[in-house]
Amino acid sequence: MRVTEIFYSVQGESTHAGRPCVFVRFTGCDLRCQYCDTAYSFYGGKAMTRAEILDEVARHPTKFVCLTGGEPVLQKELPELAQELLDRGYDVSLETHGQRPLDRIPRGVKKIVDLKTPGSQEPHTDFRELERLTAGDELKVVVCSESDFHWAVGVIDRLDLWTRVPVLFSPSQGQVHPKALSEWLLASGRTARLQLQLHKLIWGPDVRGV
Ligand code: SF4
Repeated sequence: MRVTEIFYSVQGESTHAGRPCVFVRFTGCDLRCQYCDTAYSFYGGKAMTRAEILDEVARHPTKFVCLTGGEPVLQKELPELAQELLDRGYDVSLETHGQRPLDRIPRGVKKIVDLKTPGSQEPHTDFRELERLTAGDELKVVVCSESDFHWAVGVIDRLDLWTRVPVLFSPSQGQVHPKALSEWLLASGRTARLQLQLHKLIWGPDVRGV
């Protein structure tokens, strides 16, 4: 498997925000979202076996793991690694752009799946993976403009996801002020959450490995 970094920090996103967590950041992504803040993970990285990753994860004092990237689902052995973590008693979350099949991901993994808006410049056109979200999963939308927000609301209405999974709206940094996004969310009357990236508030926007 190709790994950019493994580090121990506080989860900054999702309904798990604030939890101590080991992050396994895999190398490579097949999208190029215009707001991407992990472009450093597109190339390079280090080859690691599943056993080496499990050993590294075990060095840290938490049983909560986040598999992230890049796009972790591009790693062929991801389902096997996720299962091995579950078997060892880890609470496993997976952050994915949602544009690759998720059918091999083991039950029990908490999938945090993006809905890519037009403003991302890599918008979703195929919603099959989003329709399969179930209890324990979450939907994340990075919003780049007011029209992005309304586009996402329309998609989530159509897929009827509001009550199936938590829906998290994040402002694209430098493009949408959290106050504006809050106002759109409140006016929409939808059951969703505003999400700010906690790790960036704590350590600053450009610090890696936190
Ligand atoms: S899917 Fe994620 S890692 Fe890939 S380009 Fe978009 S924001 Fe970056």
